[in-house]
Amino acid sequence: MKVVYPGSFDPITLGHIDIIKRIAKKFDEVIILVANNEAKKTQFSVDQRIEFIEETLKECDVQGNIFVKKHNGLLVDFVRENNADFIIRGLRRANDFDIEYDMARLNKHIAGVETLMVAADPKFTHIASSYVKEIAKFGGDISEMVSTCVANKLKKHFNL
Ligand code: ADP
Repeated sequence: MKVVYPGSFDPITLGHIDIIKRIAKKFDEVIILVANNEAKKTQFSVDQRIEFIEETLKECDVQGNIFVKKHNGLLVDFVRENNADFIIRGLRRANDFDIEYDMARLNKHIAGVETLMVAADPKFTHIASSYVKEIAKFGGDISEMVSTCVANKLKKHFNL
């Protein structure tokens, strides 16, 4: 079976990587789908975010049945065009659930596409791309939250 793991990945964190590693063991193919949504302001361009993901996958030795793609239409259209079986979303805490539950029902309603939610590992539940950027901007230590290549790219980006 094939699954799509969509997100902003602005940038990819070790929390994302943990979900990717776990689902890659359970499904034949995992597509990491980087959202190219102009309404959502991101720090990094879609191509930079893809580069960060590809380098992180190499660094963490997570390869094989994992592909990275971008898309700027409806997620459900991508899922159907690629004959994927499920959307995967990670759940860190209760307020993730409220949003994800609505999205899952909407995607089921408009296109019959099912979503599977994966509980984050407690080691990573406090890690979010937004916190990582905020900490990095002021020179804080993000080395245990992102890959070394992402940590270096953030340092460079924020001129540290
Ligand atoms: P989005 O803007 O679509 O929420 P994110 O890149 O923030 O994009 O997250 C993509 C997916 O990864 C979401 O399902 C999110 O809940 C999940 N996720 C984010 N951070 C973590 C983490 N630390 N541990 C597990 N899952 C996470």
